[in-house]
Amino acid sequence: MTSVNISQTPTSQDTITKGTVRASWEGTDTLLNPSVLTKHLKSPKPQNAITIAVSSRVLFSMNKEQQIYEQKGMEDYLKYQIEHETEPFSPGPAFPFVKALEAVNARLRELYPESEELFDVVLMTNNHAHVGLRLINTINHHQLFIERFCMTGGNSLIGYLKAYQTNLYLSADHMKVREALEAGIAAATMFNPPEKRTEVSETQLRVAFDGDAVLFSDESERIFKAHGLDKFFEHEKAHEDMPLDHGPLKGFLESLGKLQKKFYAKGQRMDCPIRTYLVTSRSAASSGTRALKTLRSWGLETDEALFLAGAPKGPMLDKIRPHIFFDDQMFHVEGAAQLGTVAAHVPYGVTQKWAPEEACGGECLGYCTDTK
Ligand SMILES: [Mg+2]
Repeated sequence: MTSVNISQTPTSQDTITKGTVRASWEGTDTLLNPSVLTKHLKSPKPQNAITIAVSSRVLFSMNKEQQIYEQKGMEDYLKYQIEHETEPFSPGPAFPFVKALEAVNARLRELYPESEELFDVVLMTNNHAHVGLRLINTINHHQLFIERFCMTGGNSLIGYLKAYQTNLYLSADHMKVREALEAGIAAATMFNPPEKRTEVSETQLRVAFDGDAVLFSDESERIFKAHGLDKFFEHEKAHEDMPLDHGPLKGFLESLGKLQKKFYAKGQRMDCPIRTYLVTSRSAASSGTRALKTLRSWGLETDEALFLAGAPKGPMLDKIRPHIFFDDQMFHVEGAAQLGTVAAHVPYGVTQKWAPEEACGGECLGYCTDTK
């Protein structure tokens, strides 16, 4: 049986053995089918691993259940979940990304059998323990390697994310994502997958990043918002030798770079199962130099850098076929999703505060003036 380390506050029904909390539902006669369990592999220690925390609602599609909860309440929701316990959830927006992380891990384990420098996926859920059983069944059904559950049960999310030394947190709940970002943890909001999702590689993880307010701080974005495009170009030219401050996802790019170097060290640069992309609205000639020089000053690089000079990002992303694309502006997130790319929103920086609430009644959460 798979062992599940969870971080739920222990209850009287739980037993604690050597610091590992085992939930009351874990020892019950589950409906797990041993034939579909993934081969047991040891989880790496958080200080060695690249920890990716994903909420159950982005890893799996739980729309129907969410609707029941919102329309009929907790009791009907739980009843439905228990009645459908053996029915696996279908993949959600983060699913192909997590599968790709596992493909990278498989290659790392081949090259470095003893190393714990691997991706470690932690499933975050504030669901009731009864739903945990359906989640375990689903993980086994899809043959995912997820050993850690974090059942927050209404407790502070940040404490758990910090305890796991989380390198990236993905959730459907933008409030939790904001909370994580404010605590200095790389985080992004994910949405229902595009109806016609672009097919992605099963052997190479591809991650695409916007520049300003994602990898970089929003300092240049502020100039653009306050003074317009010409002043922005002027400013970037004048400051091209001054590196930008880091943005919320710089650390995650750094983690990817660390793993890439492990492949390079074994002569696998051309066959590296991780590929990264900078996809920015900056234009190469006038403002791209500062972006590239900043990455270089950090000792980082992306495999490809695309300067779109304000052109839509969706068509380019459709060619790149990333498992995930991060942008701070909903305009770009939506544009990418319309063409089939799974795009995640990083609610960080000046753009989030820009929208006057009266423009949309606050319903857009401040994204309605995303136009750059
Ligand atoms: Mg941006």
